[in-house]
Amino acid sequence: MPLRVVQTIDEVRAALADRARLGTIGLVPTMGALHAGHARLIERAVKDCRTVVVSIFVNPLQFDRADDLARYPRPLQADLSLCEQLGAELVFAPAPEEIYPEPPDVTVHVGETAKHLCGAFRPGHFDGVATVVLKLFHIVQPDVAYFGEKDAQQLAIIRRMVADLNLSVRIAPVETVREPDGLALSSRNQHLGPAERALAPALFKALCAVRDGVAGGTTEAAALKRDAVEAIPSDERLRLEYLELVDPRTFQPVAAVTGPVIAAGALWVGSTRLIDNVLCTPP
Ligand code: AMP
Repeated sequence: MPLRVVQTIDEVRAALADRARLGTIGLVPTMGALHAGHARLIERAVKDCRTVVVSIFVNPLQFDRADDLARYPRPLQADLSLCEQLGAELVFAPAPEEIYPEPPDVTVHVGETAKHLCGAFRPGHFDGVATVVLKLFHIVQPDVAYFGEKDAQQLAIIRRMVADLNLSVRIAPVETVREPDGLALSSRNQHLGPAERALAPALFKALCAVRDGVAGGTTEAAALKRDAVEAIPSDERLRLEYLELVDPRTFQPVAAVTGPVIAAGALWVGSTRLIDNVLCTPP
């Protein structure tokens, strides 16, 4: 079936009205500028589901900085080619006014799961994410929705929203796709100049230092963090925003490792903010 591209909620609902014919519906929510990480989510959806919907929407509600929203890449034609090539049936690429005809007065508020890490440094970010994802779930009504482990706090929040609000959608996590040097693929990587790109794997390396320390039996979070920070080269272009060890479900920081933890960090490389995380399992 050729790819269909629609811009309005009515068109999505009409295209997906015949549920019996369409079988299992998988949704892959994205902000576009698709790369091999997104492709992995779409491939997984195509494998599992008879009908795959990809949404492409740069959600203004989740941006805390106007410059980040303005410079977010939007290569729609290339994105559509990739979706077609991977076998998606429908792309929903709405304009902001379609999703927010007026500033929303009723939104989703995320509590403790959004308190630390990105939630602490990007005020309102996860409320914006949860709100748009809930809207997309209502618009598409998917059986399964695919989210990358690259955004681990987002994944934990979506899972919590599904549980707390009794949503009837299954959340399928997809492992992080990386460059050969470990850098997690991200739409923001294209902002990196060559020298910055060479420095960017420092975050993954620091998180791997935590993983190795935990695997080697170190349990004190402060010591693990100290070693990780030391693994980041001192360079004026690098600024560590946070590096934290958290419980994988609640995303609350832990002082001591007593089971699997997620090591998560945010690193500014020049004017580009990168995030990453690694699951760490004690011996
Ligand atoms: P975004 O377009 O950045 O909002 O991402 C859309 C989805 O793709 C989210 O569920 C992300 O977690 C996921 N994603 C982004 N980068 C990667 C990656 N490198 N590996 C796996 N999934 C990713």
